[in-house]
Amino acid sequence: PINESSAAPDPPVKVLVRIRPKTVKEKLGDPTIKKVSEDSVAVGDRKFSFNSVLDSSSKQEDIFQLVGVPLAKDALAGYNASILSYGQSGSGKTYTMWGPPSAMVEGQTASSQQGIVPRTFRMIFSKIEWEKENSDAKQINYQCRCSFLEIHNGQIGDLLDPTQRNLQIKDDAKNGFYIESLSEEYVTSYDDVAQILIKVTQAFFSAAAMGQSRSSFKMPFFNAPYYDAMQGLSNRKVGATSTNSKSSRSHVVFTCVIESWCKETATSSFSSSKASRISFVDLAGLERNKQAHAGRDFEKERKDVKSSLSHLGHLVNILAGGTQPDHFMYRDSCLTHLLQESLGGNAKLSVICTISPDIQNYGETLRTLRLGHLVR
Ligand code: ADP
Ligand code: MG
Repeated sequence: PINESSAAPDPPVKVLVRIRPKTVKEKLGDPTIKKVSEDSVAVGDRKFSFNSVLDSSSKQEDIFQLVGVPLAKDALAGYNASILSYGQSGSGKTYTMWGPPSAMVEGQTASSQQGIVPRTFRMIFSKIEWEKENSDAKQINYQCRCSFLEIHNGQIGDLLDPTQRNLQIKDDAKNGFYIESLSEEYVTSYDDVAQILIKVTQAFFSAAAMGQSRSSFKMPFFNAPYYDAMQGLSNRKVGATSTNSKSSRSHVVFTCVIESWCKETATSSFSSSKASRISFVDLAGLERNKQAHAGRDFEKERKDVKSSLSHLGHLVNILAGGTQPDHFMYRDSCLTHLLQESLGGNAKLSVICTISPDIQNYGETLRTLRLGHLVR
């Protein structure tokens, strides 16, 4: 639990590490990768420091307290804020961000498996409800709209409308920054958000990655034609490979824009007071290993994932070092261009580096830990 009165103000950029639990097979090996203090992790005899380190016994609630609670506060205070999960395939990015779809369903009680995104929206909507009840309902109005997209091979695909491919980023003085034709859904409650999350995550991520089989999971409000469309999409993007059979090679971005209007007196008109954009990014796997992208079109894919992650890592390291990147640096990849309003300026950023506890993954783990560590 966070003690609000004594907590230091949150830095604008936080880099955290979460070590996923060992599988049965991994338990046989030595514990070469371990948390050694609240903010450091040892890999063999090398030690890396971050803002926080969570070990393999950490709960979904623990990571939510560290990144989701501050994000909910920032979002309602009018800041842009985002959370990214970064790491090799199989290290827990998707689990940490969303959790299994089944955990999102059940009404008002948070299941222990729920990831950061559902927990954060539950908190945001309970704060909004509280505001409405405790200030004169006529004095404050909120509007929230969500979008869900993937970046694959440098192209933006709309996950709320899978027929929309290759959407363009627009950035002009008149209309500002937006993605042309990207679907947006208005949401007024946690349940509205949960419906979107369940539909998309269920279909987009592999069932195994979400910790359950598709057929074993029945959702009460599931839309069958939609599911079929998404199923097609997920089949296309999730190919069998030698090192990871079902990893997604897309960056997945869920965004919600929260606007609020208030008026000074019952008779005055509403004036727009605050707007914030919150984004949750489940990044493609950080793999240098060519085997992870074996097959047909995967070479192009691998290069694209590698270069977009390295541009992103470069920006995050600059921001974590306390300086602002040059404007043109955001244009280097579709991912950083898309996130430009969430990286830098007044925006708050948390990056969760997820790592495997297994010595087999030593090389990939060291690569993951390069992010954010050196500049602190
Ligand atoms: P990634 O998205 O990085 O490829 P996943 O989130 O799919 O990795 O995680 C790989 C597997 O490990 C999944 O079966 C997931 O449920 C499990 N897993 C990952 N992190 C945790 C955790 N902290 N606690 C329990 N299971 C986890
Ligand atoms: Mg994943």
